[in-house]
Amino acid sequence: MNVLVVGGAGYIGSHCVRQLQAAGHTPFVLDNLVYGHRAAVADDIPFFDEDLGNRQAVAKILEDNNIDVVMHFAAFINVGESVHAPLKYYENNVGNTIQLLLAMSDAGVKKFVFSSTCATYGEPDTLPLVEDLPQAPINPYGATKLHVEHILQDLARSGEISSAVFRYFNASGAAADGSIGEDHFPETHLIPLAIFAATGQRPALKIFGTDYPTPDGTCLRDYIHVDDLSRAHIAVFDQLEEPNTFVHYNLGTGKPTSVREILDAVEKVTGLPVPAEEAPRREGDPPSLYADNTKARKELGWEPEHMDVESLIATAWKWHQSHPEGYGDPKG
Ligand code: UDP
Repeated sequence: MNVLVVGGAGYIGSHCVRQLQAAGHTPFVLDNLVYGHRAAVADDIPFFDEDLGNRQAVAKILEDNNIDVVMHFAAFINVGESVHAPLKYYENNVGNTIQLLLAMSDAGVKKFVFSSTCATYGEPDTLPLVEDLPQAPINPYGATKLHVEHILQDLARSGEISSAVFRYFNASGAAADGSIGEDHFPETHLIPLAIFAATGQRPALKIFGTDYPTPDGTCLRDYIHVDDLSRAHIAVFDQLEEPNTFVHYNLGTGKPTSVREILDAVEKVTGLPVPAEEAPRREGDPPSLYADNTKARKELGWEPEHMDVESLIATAWKWHQSHPEGYGDPKG
């Protein structure tokens, strides 16, 4: 398949590009490099430095390159920022996504793969999270993702575009060879911040909340390797051949891990102590989020390879050791 990876210079997108190549597909990357990194994409992959909201330009790229499938990883992801600047999130995550879908419609491209999030479930009453739980996001970021899911459902019904939606849990880790990995600016995620605290690149890690109703008082999350996520996106292609398709899957390991367990694992993998201090809860953090991934396993024949957090953190550590400044571009 010829696949346009929108946001292909970002963290998850760049790993998906690698997995597409490994599976024998032909990836093309579109990224405006606001958050993405040019160095995350190999030089031999066609690269379009373009905005996903530029309908005309995107339609031309789709037509010129006979694109079969569009994958969309180009959303803004900072939950806290979305609370303070909701329009920025609605403009990019919903408005620009509509322009992208219009461009697909112009060019007659009918297959779409969309990165959604477990944040669309809000604060669930039951765990682990199954796909048919009510979706009630508690922040604008989650709301923007849910809006797009609804748009995609309507487009499937009308027969215009078939979609696969993946609701991610905590994407983590890096390519096995350490050549690409996580480089966000600003960085807010636990595993890279714990590694930076261990190496002394950042101050002590703040443990956000130690009084949650969990076994050790810290939040439980489901950390899923970025390559495991990527492989599910490719396993769904067959289903997209059918018109009127809208499928959705949770992507997690199904295993809850606490913040303290992550810090212990980072210490074990790096051999360095992780300086940490207890801090108040972070706004908007549900106590526990972990997936029931039965549906993805059954229907996609998908199995996460990194089932223990130490093997996952080992890949992140390899990347950070070889790239202590990340990609080293001006974004940080
Ligand atoms: N966390 C923390 N200190 C940090 C960053 C994160 O204690 O400096 C906690 C956070 O409160 C959450 C978990 O680590 O319980 C995972 O947070 P992250 O931001 O990595 O992902 P999220 O689950 O918010 O998508």
